[in-house]
Amino acid sequence: MNNRVLDVEISGIRKFFNMVPSAKGALSLTLGQPDFKTPKSIKDGMIRAINEDKTTYTSNNGIVELREKIASYLGGFGINYKSSDICLTVGGSEGLYVLLTALVNEGESVLIPSPAYPAYESIVKIIGGNIVNYGLNEDFTINIEEIRKGIILSGAKVLILSFPSNPTGAILGKEERDDLVKLIKEENIIVVTDEMYSSIIFDDYYSVAQCEEIKDNIVFVGGFSKMFSSTGLRLGYFACNEKIMSEAMKVHQYGVSCATSIVQWGMYYGFDEALEDLVTMKDVFKKRKEYVLKRLREMGLETAEAKGAFYLFPSIEKFNMSSMEFCTKLLYEGGVACVPGSAFGNLGEGYMRISYCYSDEELCESLNRLEKFINKLI
Ligand code: PLP
Repeated sequence: MNNRVLDVEISGIRKFFNMVPSAKGALSLTLGQPDFKTPKSIKDGMIRAINEDKTTYTSNNGIVELREKIASYLGGFGINYKSSDICLTVGGSEGLYVLLTALVNEGESVLIPSPAYPAYESIVKIIGGNIVNYGLNEDFTINIEEIRKGIILSGAKVLILSFPSNPTGAILGKEERDDLVKLIKEENIIVVTDEMYSSIIFDDYYSVAQCEEIKDNIVFVGGFSKMFSSTGLRLGYFACNEKIMSEAMKVHQYGVSCATSIVQWGMYYGFDEALEDLVTMKDVFKKRKEYVLKRLREMGLETAEAKGAFYLFPSIEKFNMSSMEFCTKLLYEGGVACVPGSAFGNLGEGYMRISYCYSDEELCESLNRLEKFINKLI
């Protein structure tokens, strides 16, 4: 067995999911996918693609029709890529894997936020890179000085940004974006900006990918899993300059050849109409976020205001238990499943992740149970 792979553990999120069925009658707030159906236009589009026999390999970087749509969609947010700068991948996950494999040599350091989506650390471990965590502000916004410190101490040449964040829901503000751009210019660092949730933001949207002057330093990762509630269709993309693209393409080609043809076509046929479904979904998420945040704060749980994605990350530090211990007790004694913060890295300890991808009734009942459980602990 490969020693680096032996060193990687299965995700803490998965470990916790596996426990949930053993707690009879428990309600779950653990889901990392929208509870909406995939838009009809995309489903119809995939059926059309099958009937048109679009079941052969596509070009390695995916069909140009969809890459053009993505380029035009991103252009609407001030992010300018040509279709040739874009590669369609098997979910955002493959994009992250391909890019980090292409960019990082064995022993080289990669700056990774903590808490964050756990795949970053595991991928860097598998490819033999060196993980350097950087902390965030108390409200989980970016802390430029932490990143600068990390660069100086480790000599890292690759920085991962993750906004809106899974698990915190934090986004990038204008001032923070501008400070980051300055830092990227000063340090000439390559930035992988994982924007899997950028279509689910309840405020103004800012990204380092909007700045032309540092464009060569930026690699953008996006996808449709969350945007069009289609986690099982496995379609994502990355965008970058030609130099990075030509190397990343080798990893992508030998890994998967191309993303699934009928999914690419279905997404293309259904794209414009599905954007209308996205507006509805975002409105619902915003209302739910406000409700859950209010309830958590009324219970006395300190919770940062999330401005994107569909998660909240309340502090449970005052209960003097590890997040695993707290969430296990909450599951078996309180009848609610939430993901322990430690599943998102060392700096996630002391928190738990609540997903609000659930109906109003489920959210209300789960929060009632959480409140009752907490009241017994105090
Ligand atoms: N990036 C973040 C921050 C995520 O939360 C996820 C999935 O949960 C991914 C990337 C991977 O997404 P996909 O399902 O498209 O592979």
